[in-house]
Amino acid sequence: MLEIYNSLTQEKAPFVPLEPGKIKMYVCGMTVYDYCHIGHARVMVTFDVIVRYLRHIGYDVNYVRNITDVDDKIFNRAAENNEPFDALTARFIDAMHEDERRLGVIAPTSEPRATLCMHQIIDMIETLIAKDVAYAVENGDVYFSIEKFPEYGQLSKKKLDELLVGARVEASQIKRNPMDFVLWKSAKAGEASWPSPWGEGRPGWHIECSAMSTHCLGNTFDIHGGGPDLKFPHHENEIAQSEAATGQKFVNCWMHAGAVRVNKEKMSKSLGNFFTIRDVMEKYDPEVIRYFLISSHYRSQVDYSEDSLQEAVAALGRLYNAMRGEVIAECEVVESYQQRFQQAMNDDFNTPLALSVLFELVKDINKAKTEGAAELPQLLATLKRLGGILGILQCSAEDFFTRSADESAISEAEILALIERRKQARIEKNWAESDRVRDELKDKGVILDDGREGTTWRRL
Ligand SMILES: [Zn+2]
Repeated sequence: MLEIYNSLTQEKAPFVPLEPGKIKMYVCGMTVYDYCHIGHARVMVTFDVIVRYLRHIGYDVNYVRNITDVDDKIFNRAAENNEPFDALTARFIDAMHEDERRLGVIAPTSEPRATLCMHQIIDMIETLIAKDVAYAVENGDVYFSIEKFPEYGQLSKKKLDELLVGARVEASQIKRNPMDFVLWKSAKAGEASWPSPWGEGRPGWHIECSAMSTHCLGNTFDIHGGGPDLKFPHHENEIAQSEAATGQKFVNCWMHAGAVRVNKEKMSKSLGNFFTIRDVMEKYDPEVIRYFLISSHYRSQVDYSEDSLQEAVAALGRLYNAMRGEVIAECEVVESYQQRFQQAMNDDFNTPLALSVLFELVKDINKAKTEGAAELPQLLATLKRLGGILGILQCSAEDFFTRSADESAISEAEILALIERRKQARIEKNWAESDRVRDELKDKGVILDDGREGTTWRRL
């Protein structure tokens, strides 16, 4: 039985979908004004593994992940660049899709964009005004009235009066209560805007997600996910807007991925320890990055460092090494391994435990190889199948070891030329030269393995 930790109840509980066999799931996507960083990669990969696993155990998953393509950050960046905001967002949406493709992240079932859902957003704001939980002010802004939703704070476990103390400082004259949050912002001069009953303007960030999720999935759906920093105020506000508008429960299970820290510090541009996915992919294979991200439980904090990436290189290399030189046939998986893998994943998607099952499998594969055991093909097929649920081990071992994100040290052609030179040296019994070539390659991060079928190589 699948158990999931629910951020709302703060406990792990058996997962029961609203409709048997089906899961409706929404994850907050990117605000597209820059390249995605390694923290985004964690959210992408976390929910990718979750969706892959839910589908593996037979659920029909409707996975919606939005794109925030209207926001102050977008408008400000477009103004800095002196370009139309939609040219900026189009470019970064393409870049995000490219990063996801390289990380092996499966596309969501639908990917709604705020600018294409203005109608639904305005409809929801009108409903909230009609129900007297939102109000328009003279300048054309619309606010959600926090006092009209007494359940506010249920997700973040924050009490309204405590929040108010902090909010007093920035109390504004136009809001009725300093904690009221914006649903519709009136347009500033020269900014892109959309027509509405309250004049030209644009939606606030929170209302987008409420409108798009209920539009795509209905008033109540199974799972809502996002990054660690979204719980408050974003998700708290989503609950308030949606439940006030529909009068129904918004989401059954809230899931939040943990943060990524860099060398034990918060990742931030000002600290200079900010890494885009592209920066990291220049040095490491995308599958290594994926392995690094799933080697910790999705809710825990992960620490990004050169050491942890190097550990991922070695660990993933060990898994691929078991498949090396073998033809992986389509055959039944070994039930005992499949069961233990599922047990791990059923426990709130415990990927580190699931990976440990793969390493035990590798031990058995290596033993079967030396003993020439008949179950080798089945063991290999099991490794590849279970790896696929985590989005790893889907290329051939040869491809994995020879492809490289960083070819700056030495190209494939140079490696092959050096291997040929070493071969000649060995034919001439010039062992000193043979060793010299091996060391030269090692210095450039290339490891040679001499086998029955000749010499193979892999990058470290
Ligand atoms: Zn959202």
